[in-house]
Amino acid sequence: MTSENRVYGHCRTCSGLGVYMDQDRKACFFLNGNPHIAHPVDFFPDGSLAPEKSKLEADSAPNPGTVKIRVTDAGSYYSNQSMHDEIFVSVQDENEDPQSDLTIVKKLGVDVKDILTAQNGGSS
Ligand SMILES: [Zn+2]
Repeated sequence: MTSENRVYGHCRTCSGLGVYMDQDRKACFFLNGNPHIAHPVDFFPDGSLAPEKSKLEADSAPNPGTVKIRVTDAGSYYSNQSMHDEIFVSVQDENEDPQSDLTIVKKLGVDVKDILTAQNGGSS
C-alpha cells in the first residue's frame, strides 16, 4: 500500500539511475530509498521499474528468504518477498566494496547464501 502514490522512472541527470516520485511527499527518491536531493530530477518515466507485486503473488508460494536480482548495465537491484522496494547496488559499489553482499544481507534480512544463490541464477 505504500507504493500506490509513487511513479517510477529514471533520472537522466544520474545517467538513467532508477528513481521514483513520491506524490504524497512531492519528493524524489532512489529505488533504495535514499532521497534524490543532489539536483532537480530529470524524470523519465519507466513503469517497468515498479515492483511487480501481481507477478510475485502469482508465483507458487516462494520462500520468504528468496532473493531476486535484476541486473542492469548500471548495477543490480536486489529484493525479497517481504520488501516493496528494491536495493540498488551499482557496478562501482560491487567492484569497490567487497562487503556489498553483506550490506544487502542486512538490508534484506536474508542469509548470504540466498544472495549467492540468486547471483548464480538460482541454481548451482
Ligand atoms: Zn538525478
